[in-house]
Amino acid sequence: MNFELSEEARMIRESVRKFAEEEIRPLAHDLDKKEEFSVELTKKMGELGLFGIFIPEKYGGVGLGYIEYIIAVEEIARIDGSQAATLAAHNSLGVGPLYYYGNDLQKEKYIPSLCTGENLWGFGLTEPDAGSDAGGTRTTAILCPEDENSWIINGSKIFITNASSPITLGSTVQTVTGKKAGGKKEYTCFLVDTGTEGFETRTMHDKMMWRGSNTAELFFDDVKVSDNNLLGERGDGFHIMLDTLDRGRLSIAAMGLGAAQGAFDLALKYARERIQFNKPISTFQGTAFKLSDMAVEIEAARNLLYKAAWLCDNGKDFKKESAMAKLYTSEVAHRCVNNAVQIHGGYGLMKEYEVERLYRDQRVLEIGEGTSEIQRLVIARYLGCYDDAKMK
Ligand SMILES: Cc1cc2nc3c(=O)[nH]c(=O)nc-3n(C[C@H](O)[C@H](O)[C@H](O)COP(=O)(O)OP(=O)(O)OC[C@H]3O[C@@H](n4cnc5c(N)ncnc54)[C@H](O)[C@@H]3O)c2cc1C
Repeated sequence: MNFELSEEARMIRESVRKFAEEEIRPLAHDLDKKEEFSVELTKKMGELGLFGIFIPEKYGGVGLGYIEYIIAVEEIARIDGSQAATLAAHNSLGVGPLYYYGNDLQKEKYIPSLCTGENLWGFGLTEPDAGSDAGGTRTTAILCPEDENSWIINGSKIFITNASSPITLGSTVQTVTGKKAGGKKEYTCFLVDTGTEGFETRTMHDKMMWRGSNTAELFFDDVKVSDNNLLGERGDGFHIMLDTLDRGRLSIAAMGLGAAQGAFDLALKYARERIQFNKPISTFQGTAFKLSDMAVEIEAARNLLYKAAWLCDNGKDFKKESAMAKLYTSEVAHRCVNNAVQIHGGYGLMKEYEVERLYRDQRVLEIGEGTSEIQRLVIARYLGCYDDAKMK
């Protein structure tokens, strides 16, 4: 076994940490307060090469692996959940399906400008009545009666990250295109460009967390798209979406790890500086033991996540481990941000203290890209609890 990170991975950590400390930290509080998406920071992340980090250079990417990607997300999330959300959603959910399932023309058309930070791409799976139950999709696509090379999409999506920012180029959308033999719904994914007639995006406001990240509702009113916009094969939609989520979970897990580490770093610093009863509060056993527990859980979370990313990079089955990592790191983050606020006392509840934002931003990690309950369900299926052959 070799626990040494590669030279590239160490360099990524160093450069992204510097960027997050110097460029993101000074803006994070204001962006959160004003609920503002930052085109400027998005472009800067692109200039650093953080979009398309696992995409080959041929399409404008950096050609590294998931370990390097995970480390980049972790370092951004250590400082700011919102920018980490932009980064993770764009790579895993935006660029990922285009790269893994797009044909050459689609890759050449879309991926290069998505790797530079010039443009973003959304992933539209969730609907008002289809959240955890992704098979409950109601958005439909039917073959156009007058033009059999085109489709007409009707329906809506909700909670779609990066889908209505000023630089969004479009979204991948899951639709129902009919029934398969046996009566099961047939799902198909389409690429829908911003500005297509009948396609409207509406930014969602008043979020508790990720307030500097763009979240949108999508509406499709007789939206006509051509066959060229079909991602993968007709009927492959569900597989594409689930495969995308398996990889996406690694990046949500990285956000949990980063948030936990960020909260720990703030708490340790504060505990060493804050004097009560003439001593730093870090010297009280109640505080020191909290910090020890946090450090142990962060170490365990990092090992679990990096192993899952290593499995992915080495072409091995990583799906059970990615669900485990997503579940565990998001719950470790929950406990760490909670302890970090406790260590900050009353100041931890004030918005001028960074830990307050980390506390809010963490909460979505146990919900987005499959809730903790759904992760337990996925893991239980892999364990064989439900005798469900399709998960094995
Ligand atoms: C900020 C944000 C960004 C997001 N970005 C995207 C995005 O880019 N693209 C996208 O497609 N979606 C996105 N989502 C949607 C997200 O993936 C869903 O919110 C999530 O999957 C849960 O669905 P839901 O909110 O409808 O909750 P529901 O599915 O209604 O779940 C409600 C509760 O019921 C529980 N529950 C449901 N079914 C079961 C079951 N079988 N067993 C046990 N418990 C169950 C859940 O665990 C949860 O506690 C985003 C969400 C947020 C908040």
